[in-house]
Amino acid sequence: MTHAQLHCIFPQCDARYSVNSDATACTACKGLLDVRYTGIDASTVKELAQLRRMNNRDVRDRSGVWRFRHLLPFYLEHTKKEGNLVSLDGMEGNTWLIHVTRAAEYAGLPSENVWFQFEGNNPTGSFKDNGMAAAFTHAKMLDRKYVACASTGNTSASVAAFAANELNQMRAAVFIGDGKIARGKLAKTLAYNPKVLQVAGDFDDAMARVQEVSQSEGIYLMNSVNPFRLEGQKTIMHRVWEGLDWQVPDWVVVPGGNLGNCSAFGKAWHELYELGLTDKMPRIAVINAQGSNMFYQLVQQGAAWNGGKVNREHYQQAFNNAPKPHTRASAIEINKPVNFYKALRMLEWTNGVVREATDAEMLEAQAVVTRNGYGCEPASAATLVGMRKLCAEGIIKPSDRVVGIFTGHLLNDAEALIEYHASDEQHRFSNSPVKVANSLDAIVAALR
Ligand SMILES: *Cc1c(COP(=O)(O)O)cnc(C)c1O
Ligand SMILES: [Zn+2]
Repeated sequence: MTHAQLHCIFPQCDARYSVNSDATACTACKGLLDVRYTGIDASTVKELAQLRRMNNRDVRDRSGVWRFRHLLPFYLEHTKKEGNLVSLDGMEGNTWLIHVTRAAEYAGLPSENVWFQFEGNNPTGSFKDNGMAAAFTHAKMLDRKYVACASTGNTSASVAAFAANELNQMRAAVFIGDGKIARGKLAKTLAYNPKVLQVAGDFDDAMARVQEVSQSEGIYLMNSVNPFRLEGQKTIMHRVWEGLDWQVPDWVVVPGGNLGNCSAFGKAWHELYELGLTDKMPRIAVINAQGSNMFYQLVQQGAAWNGGKVNREHYQQAFNNAPKPHTRASAIEINKPVNFYKALRMLEWTNGVVREATDAEMLEAQAVVTRNGYGCEPASAATLVGMRKLCAEGIIKPSDRVVGIFTGHLLNDAEALIEYHASDEQHRFSNSPVKVANSLDAIVAALR
């Protein structure tokens, strides 16, 4: 029998709560919460995942999230039935490791030691679908019919799609600020038909309002401060582990915004290690955008988890005074990362590092990926920039086995591509249309 509980992440507090609660903070100390388990049977973990992958009849087994449901068994606490697992009919989390030769070369690493996982190939175009499968399952456990989030696009699209797929059982509200939002992300969000509220204010205002509203109206909050979302996102690492034939890579590289994903990755590997299923931890590298690099700066200045002994007032001050973030990589344009403390803990667990990437570097790295026939959005390309920098610094070594996560789909931000490739400004990998006269001779000449 497994058992799941919510724990305050601060060991000094260690308050515990039932998972049949939608709390996103410890009532004793306001700390973030983790879902923790006892009773997971380590001896069957790999075999179960493998068996389920081969069984393509059951939606829950087809899902790249629920194939690993025995590593996130919080749902058993309530109904004791697996039938309530929420899934986009098995489509979420169907991603796997591939080699991208040009990207590895660009990073300066031998391609056979480098893998990438394209989480943008999820049904709504980002890794967020991994998390929503789990968080919607939890919302249903609590019998919640109304869910909400604040978002710059990918979270809102994922929330809206999962709610739409529940037909009339679930309603979704999405809060956006009146700032810039990539058109592809706005378009997909509108199309999945949630109630979209454009708050007169910026993203931080939208975030503050959605938290208030969810508190006062009992609306279920879908932002990554929700610990159940991170349970679903752990499976991104479970698939990496599976793809490496149950070996642990030396490095995992991932962009950081609200720092939920990198925290989920750290938790996934930590749990496998604690279960005795792995014998080491990978090192995790988190890549900020230079225009929204609070995490990078604070870690540079010595921020560390220290077993939970951190000066929280100091960091609260820092976040209150944080400058407005500004980057082309809209998915990581965040300077008050809600999962900051979980991310610090992850750095301690994994001997992790943080780096930053400029917009120009991300757009160039994005172009390298497309030149290999694949694609990701600008924020995702931070992964490749970070890999390249860490290789140049000699921190990632050519003999290391390295995994990069590309978090979002190429077409989430079509404007960025057009600006890069077809504006007047020339870039290293620009590919703009060749103007040619409407004549065979001219065309033949241009094709040479
Ligand atoms: C949400 C998102 C991120 C940032 O993830 P966090 O968990 O907020 O750090 C990065 N890339 C893409 C494409 C995203 O949608
Ligand atoms: Zn606490």
